[in-house]
Amino acid sequence: MNLYSTNNKDLRISFKEAVFNSMPQDKGLYMPVEIPQLDADFIKNIERYSLPEIATKVASALLKDEIPAEDLKALIEDAINFEAPAVKLGDKTFVLELFHGPSLAFKDFGARFMSRVMAYFLKDGEQLLDVLVATSGDTGGAVALGFLGVPNTRVTILYPEGKVSPIQELQLTTNGQNIRAIEIKGTFDDCQALVKQAFADGELNAKFRLTSANSINISRLIPQTFYYFNTYAQLKKHGLNDVIFSVPSGNFGNIGAGLLAYKLGLPVKQFIAATNINDTVPRFLETGVYETKPSTQTYSNAMDVGAPSNWIRIMDLFNNDISALKKVVTSYRFNDEETLAGIKEIDNKFDYVACPHTAIAYLAIEKFRKENPEDESASVFLSTAHACKFPDIFPEAIAAKIEIPDQVTALESLPRHADKLGIDFEEFKSYLFDKA
Ligand SMILES: *Cc1c(COP(=O)(O)O)cnc(C)c1O
Repeated sequence: MNLYSTNNKDLRISFKEAVFNSMPQDKGLYMPVEIPQLDADFIKNIERYSLPEIATKVASALLKDEIPAEDLKALIEDAINFEAPAVKLGDKTFVLELFHGPSLAFKDFGARFMSRVMAYFLKDGEQLLDVLVATSGDTGGAVALGFLGVPNTRVTILYPEGKVSPIQELQLTTNGQNIRAIEIKGTFDDCQALVKQAFADGELNAKFRLTSANSINISRLIPQTFYYFNTYAQLKKHGLNDVIFSVPSGNFGNIGAGLLAYKLGLPVKQFIAATNINDTVPRFLETGVYETKPSTQTYSNAMDVGAPSNWIRIMDLFNNDISALKKVVTSYRFNDEETLAGIKEIDNKFDYVACPHTAIAYLAIEKFRKENPEDESASVFLSTAHACKFPDIFPEAIAAKIEIPDQVTALESLPRHADKLGIDFEEFKSYLFDKA
């Protein structure tokens, strides 16, 4: 697999380089030079394959010989060791549950695959890989649990004091082993600023092999294509061949992976990019003007992104042709009041508890249905996280229905540990040296 930069199409680098660099120097994003078409027979008979089999097929088509087939298969079986069921709620309406991994969010697909790819490429005797992450909640848990116990790696997670939910905090602070958590007396932006400054610091880079684990890494994008194919396989078992996906979007990595799956040959009728009031993309599709803005806090806080980092990938997939893109992607925004109403409607209609992000995807597909009554495709809205991660949002009667999964209960009895630091970079830097 060769990759170019969205800012330099003549650049050629290997998958391994792209995984460790995350981002090209020119501030573009890495994209595959070749997006192969999966063979039509595979798509036609896809319902015969399991999720790991589908994943191996898709990944090997993209990666080619960068990881030999047998190794790739083992890596995927280890990384994607949980289900992604498309649960039928109503006639032709499905919720795709992506929260059955260890951190209870879809980010487990990306984080677990990435950690194992990195470990695979780290040759024996190579320098320890130091992963630095700033998190507002979901990313940190997925990365921590994804790298937990992975040899030759160490993860340092910075999170803002008092700003993550109790379950998210458990996922960050109970790991031990090669994972350490730092509670920062500041905001998520302060955490991110510290991490950014660390990556730019000469002395730290001379001493440590630093890498980021953020959502622009190509090795997080690829595994997110797997569940789009796997959902299509599940729908085919219900005799359904036409599908619309509604994706709750923040940095647009998840829907970007869906569109990559589409370009690989997955027959999808329509994608819906569902956002909260951080609506840079819906505004762009309405007006043709791409204008980022500072993020605003909402109930669906994992989607509070004013400048979606993966958007240029999506434009690149469509050769910057907005009208081609608009044929495949529709986008709607919803505010907090509507989100809450969506949660209640899903509870009423289907007796199902959806997290606020999931509720936005549901509202978006309902809106699309109303605007396109002639369309008979099956609706699949993606559930990106388990409701128990956002307990404060729900009315009491609905909150009472939320079942806490075993993964969480198991953490409750473990000792918690986080180091505490302020927002001063020199202090953070000394910490990294002192605790080397
Ligand atoms: C990260 C996240 C999102 C947004 O996904 P993107 O790939 O950034 O668009 C949506 N919902 C939840 C629960 C998340 O954790």
